[in-house]
Amino acid sequence: MGLHEAQRRAVDHAASWLGSVAERPVGVPVDAESLRARLGTLPDEGVDPAIVIDELATALEPGLVATPGPRYFGFVTGGTLPAALAAEWLVTAFDQNAASYVMSPASAVAEEVAGSWLLELLGLPAGAAVGFVTGAQMANVSCLAAARHAVLARRGWDVEAAGLASAPVPAVLIGEKAHSTLLQSLRLLGLGAGTARRVPADGQGRMRPDALRAAMASTDGPVLVCAQAGEVDTGAVDPLDAIADLVEERPGSWLHVDGAFGLWVAASPTRRALLAGRARADSWAIDAHKWLNVAYDCGMAIVHDPEASRAALATTAPYLALGARDPSASTPESSRRARAVPVYAALRSLGRHGVGELVDRCCDLATQAAAELAASPRVEVLNEVVLNQVLFRAPGVDTAALLDRVRRDGTCWVGGTTWHDSAAVRFSVSNWSTTAADITRSTTAIIAATAQLTAG
Ligand SMILES: *Cc1c(COP(=O)(O)O)cnc(C)c1O
Repeated sequence: MGLHEAQRRAVDHAASWLGSVAERPVGVPVDAESLRARLGTLPDEGVDPAIVIDELATALEPGLVATPGPRYFGFVTGGTLPAALAAEWLVTAFDQNAASYVMSPASAVAEEVAGSWLLELLGLPAGAAVGFVTGAQMANVSCLAAARHAVLARRGWDVEAAGLASAPVPAVLIGEKAHSTLLQSLRLLGLGAGTARRVPADGQGRMRPDALRAAMASTDGPVLVCAQAGEVDTGAVDPLDAIADLVEERPGSWLHVDGAFGLWVAASPTRRALLAGRARADSWAIDAHKWLNVAYDCGMAIVHDPEASRAALATTAPYLALGARDPSASTPESSRRARAVPVYAALRSLGRHGVGELVDRCCDLATQAAAELAASPRVEVLNEVVLNQVLFRAPGVDTAALLDRVRRDGTCWVGGTTWHDSAAVRFSVSNWSTTAADITRSTTAIIAATAQLTAG
């Protein structure tokens, strides 16, 4: 009752996808031309909705990658917790506009509650602004917009009104291993990706405090420093306390932490010491679609001073009648979906302990993967496995050929990168459903692929 036939079929297709995602070949290569052909051309006349859904599911099938499955270790990719997926369906069915309280009190209050739970779980200051955005990319943009506002306002410059031409722009210092989306954020905000000073990192990719001190010595006045919790290749976390000490020596400065996945480690009682000092920053970017295992797209921009967030990001127009606490005051977007609802469902279904256990389990599985890989004489593990990331190479084996061989086998999916100027493989464990057996199956397949390539 209540569902249109098309929607009933969609539920069936979703069920068959979810039922197959753990065992189907994870992501075998497919050519784009055949996918295009399957999708056809724009019809002159409309097609029955139920048929549209059946044909759409069939057409897309060969191009689907089992990224939500238990043996997808590419990039940093979470799956979707059962409660988060179900909540996502409700979000779409409710079709609420989360831009403002008056448009949807339910969405606005869900954001408030999920946001405050998040701050509590991560050990960040209560009362900080939490903006629900598409992911860490927009979280970095939103946080750095607030930073740009605050640092310039303290110097008497109204950047929102006057722009950046002749503004007393602060020196921007970022780690040598800063994420590409941080550079993109600096570009979008007119702060310049090329003029940012790159602070050298140690062998694991952590910003070196002595190098930050040296870089700051050649600048005057307030600085904007971007640290990182969770380097994409190694999982390394910058020494946040030592960095905060240095930033504090320059009044009027701002410290941002890109913690897209690494910040979740704050939920783990045994590992959170890695993030000591995190609460001393001014802003934090974090993803929900990575380690919290909420569906795409969802990330959070957290800004300690809600005024800075509001001044930089709030949209105003007489007809909108926005209040200070309206959700759109902490994101650059206007109309958007109620992203906090699946976050709420994920946090409630796991509980405080469950989030910590999820994080610990993934880190333990990464340690297991590293040990199994390192046990092969053909594989060299390149990083200290501190979180959920394993970086390795197979000496004497072409990395691109290894990635291709592993993908064609279909047991698991791993990604490539360049580390210290040579090709390497990344293995990231971020999925709620991955088991120890999945790790062993995958490392066995990887080691077998290296053996085949060595044999000729
Ligand atoms: C993934 C990631 C991002 C970008 O996140 P999106 O979800 O792709 O927007 C930014 N920073 C770090 C450290 C990341 O790992």
